[in-house]
Amino acid sequence: MVRRDRWQKLLLVLLVTGGLLSCSPPTAPSATVTPNETISEQRELLGTYVQIQVAGLPETSAREAIAAGFQAIEQLQADAHPELPSSDIFRLNQNAGQAPVKIHEDIFDIISLAREISEHSQGAFDVTFVGIGRLYNLRHPENFRIPNDEELRQALQRVDYRQLQLDPANHTAYLTRTDMAVDLGGIAKGWSTDSAMAALKARGVKNAIVNAGGDMMVSGSKNGEPWRIGIQHPRRGRDDYFAVIKASGDLAIVTSGDYERYVMHDGVRYHHIMDPHTGRPASLSQSVTIIAPNGVLADGLATAVFVLGPEAGLAMLAQYYPQCDALIIDRDGKRHDSPNLTKRHTVINVAEKH
Ligand code: ADP
Ligand code: MG
Repeated sequence: MVRRDRWQKLLLVLLVTGGLLSCSPPTAPSATVTPNETISEQRELLGTYVQIQVAGLPETSAREAIAAGFQAIEQLQADAHPELPSSDIFRLNQNAGQAPVKIHEDIFDIISLAREISEHSQGAFDVTFVGIGRLYNLRHPENFRIPNDEELRQALQRVDYRQLQLDPANHTAYLTRTDMAVDLGGIAKGWSTDSAMAALKARGVKNAIVNAGGDMMVSGSKNGEPWRIGIQHPRRGRDDYFAVIKASGDLAIVTSGDYERYVMHDGVRYHHIMDPHTGRPASLSQSVTIIAPNGVLADGLATAVFVLGPEAGLAMLAQYYPQCDALIIDRDGKRHDSPNLTKRHTVINVAEKH
């Protein structure tokens, strides 16, 4: 069975945060709103639906800021999409095995972080992973296929983050092998929420939530109340979440799950988060939610911890990212929280619906 259910996920999150209920229609003629209203817009970007919601600002300023937020994501796409000749990643891959290329400073920082997470997770997250992902065609489930052992063996040879050399002094990046490629897809959504939030703040927004296909970045509060983020249960229905996180201030909440994009075949769930050591779908987790200071970190760590599983995943967080928290549902459906989760955040557990 194939599920493409981003809309439903977005709707769920909107309902939990009250977004759909409180936003004004896009054509609303009034120039101002009372401080208790929120303005919300969404667009299709990065292959998903991005929603930006702003609270406590007059409508005109809110909409201008939201437009700037979307613009920031479009810019990011132009700068980092691996298939656009305008992008640094395109040039990096074109020059693989030939020469280092100069990278814009902000993109360089993201590549560095992606490589750092690759290293700290010992390749559970791998910034050169794209060659494996392609083999399964999960983006076009009608063409889904299972690669044979030889195809996997060859693809695995082209996955190795250590072949990505970074020179921070000159802001250059170099992939040592011609047949390898870098792709920031595993962190693009989280990164986009950071970029949009920065653009909102530059226009005076203090209270907002950016939702890129379920990856959330919040800032401030919703009219004095914390934003409420529902966490979808990986094996229950779409409208069924097992926890709600009350978030205020600057916080990213990102979930990676095996229910997002998958194909069931002979009882095996082929989903979009792969273990770069085997070339097969990672099987130790059903879902991983990371709470972190920013979206790009949360996004990368969600994928890394998903692949590592609860034990090694929580150990990595404790060692390298103690500022981050996690809620993990393991392969048996058992929940594992990071030790400081409820000390640092308000988490409401939601009973199973009957
Ligand atoms: P989503 O939010 O869509 O669930 P994730 O944040 O979980 O996405 O990331 C999944 C995406 O990351 C995949 O579509 C793929 O592009 C990439 N990816 C999958 N496995 C890995 C991995 N082990 N290392 C790096 N990137 C990965
Ligand atoms: Mg991720």
